[in-house]
Amino acid sequence: MRLISPFLKRVVYPGLARTGYLRRRASPGPAVLTYHGVFPEGYRVRDADLDGSLVSARGLRQQLQCLRDHYHIISPEQFLGWLEADQALPPRAVLLTCDDGLRNVVTDMLPVLREFDAQCLFFVTGASASEEAAVLWYEALYLWMQAASPSAVLHLPQAGIEHCTIRPTSRRALWWGMVQKLSCFAEERRQNLLRLLREQMGIPAGWQTSLLRNEAEYRRFCLLDRAGLLELQQAGMAIGAHTLSHPMLAQLPDEEARKEIVAGRSVLQDALSSAIWALAYPFGGPDSISPREPALAEEAGFACAFLNVGGGWGAAMPRFALPRVHVTAQMELGEFEAHISGFYGALRRSLRIA
Ligand SMILES: [Zn+2]
Repeated sequence: MRLISPFLKRVVYPGLARTGYLRRRASPGPAVLTYHGVFPEGYRVRDADLDGSLVSARGLRQQLQCLRDHYHIISPEQFLGWLEADQALPPRAVLLTCDDGLRNVVTDMLPVLREFDAQCLFFVTGASASEEAAVLWYEALYLWMQAASPSAVLHLPQAGIEHCTIRPTSRRALWWGMVQKLSCFAEERRQNLLRLLREQMGIPAGWQTSLLRNEAEYRRFCLLDRAGLLELQQAGMAIGAHTLSHPMLAQLPDEEARKEIVAGRSVLQDALSSAIWALAYPFGGPDSISPREPALAEEAGFACAFLNVGGGWGAAMPRFALPRVHVTAQMELGEFEAHISGFYGALRRSLRIA
């Protein structure tokens, strides 16, 4: 199966896109795209695992040009009208969304969206309701692991982490396992455990200062603060919730999962003095959401909630488990259209390929 994917990406998708076949596929509902920001000017890509969700400004421009030429980019309000009141959408409708609220969405992504007069629904965490500079905890953990002393041994039996050494070849797997384990804890406890891990890796307490002193790294890793959110809002963008602290919700006990969802909404509503109607589940894949989360999202008063998988025309659209297409740095235009059209999803279901 691994041999099929490159052939599809290099030959089949571009060929089908060129003929216009993909965009002629039926589109009863909209396709929803997930971005995670744009590489800031001057940023050196560190690692495909860490940086693969962001796109270049040039890549975003090409994708928006393609959407403008052949599709209809709808506004978040149009999407809500379609969802709640069955209001008609233009054919080949596409909604843009962007998760996490990194600084580069204002400095590097917003200017490109403005060139195309495109609106986007930005999902941000509770950290962006404050005035403080913050970095996503699981990205900080990865940065520490990259910079850790080679002799570091990670040992936190209270979190199920025992005598682990960090090797470049297994770093990603170790990191992902720790993200899952640390997601079992409420934010404050998780931060304490993270501090212990940082100390075991030999990373000083002031590690964030040097990272944030570099403009490109600051834009890449630092989250928006309240002023940044207001800037997005004033530029006509919509804001949605991405929980308080971006855990894998399925790992948390009931009360903590509820708090992440409910308080993640209320802190943003207080900060922006406007209603927050949409939620995107952190990570958004099958291992981060259980059947409990859609019920909690509905109970919290959201109008809808989004996954980060399974998107494209023709996909079922459950209101609290709306599928999305995850746009990655490696995605060429043909593959991009194959995802939007639902062709990729249909093929994957029939061939069971990645
Ligand atoms: Zn996220």
